[in-house]
Amino acid sequence: MRQIIIAGNWKMHKTVSEAVSFVQELKQKDLNPAVEVVVCPPFTALAPVAEALKGSSIALAAQNMHWENQGAYTGEISPVMLKELGCKYVVLGHSERRQYFGETDETVNKKVKAALAAAIIPIVCVGETLEQREAGTTEQIVATQTKGGLQGLTAEQVASLVIAYEPVWAIGTGKTASDEDAQQVNQYIRQVVASEFGHTTAEAVRIQYGGSVKAGNAQGLMSQPDIDGGLVGGASLTVDDFVGIIENS
Ligand code: 13P
Repeated sequence: MRQIIIAGNWKMHKTVSEAVSFVQELKQKDLNPAVEVVVCPPFTALAPVAEALKGSSIALAAQNMHWENQGAYTGEISPVMLKELGCKYVVLGHSERRQYFGETDETVNKKVKAALAAAIIPIVCVGETLEQREAGTTEQIVATQTKGGLQGLTAEQVASLVIAYEPVWAIGTGKTASDEDAQQVNQYIRQVVASEFGHTTAEAVRIQYGGSVKAGNAQGLMSQPDIDGGLVGGASLTVDDFVGIIENS
């Protein structure tokens, strides 16, 4: 049984005080214990949010990291730094990182390996642009990104991580993939994992959907057999919206 995982990716939102008051409020809510809840604050808020989350089952994630543990990489944050703060997860290869910051399957792969080496669980993002969908290359794109991101990993490592299918055209646009479209691609990604790492691994790996997830569409998406959670942007920024998604998952 794969546990549903709902992660709130705050992107470049929330100051330290805003982040801390969000989690203090979230902690007071009666959250469905069957759902794993994760928040992904910006780097500056990770330590205070970790402190505020003490004693709760809500997990902490970073939104990115470098693949080296230390070195002359101005402006970067390393796996050991995140581990020390108590990050359980790290989002890697988000389409915004690929689009605006030059991330490639190769750098994503280095980061995935570094995260696993530091005992942080990667949430590996894949997804096609509108242009690629219209050209009929969705499967090709997600297969290349999945294989590229996971290259060289053991089956056991792949079974332990999370993949997030986020069609770029559905991110922040209010356009959600239909339940069927999202299910179809998630199922395809699972097939790719099966062909690369075996059936048992494919059955174990959790595959989220992301792109305009909200309380109103969460139930339909999360009830699909190959959708094991959501990576939520805009609707993770207010406690009521986020809790609504968790309740409907
Ligand atoms: P939205 O939920 O705002 O569409 O963002 C999705 C996303 O990119 C989460 O990582």
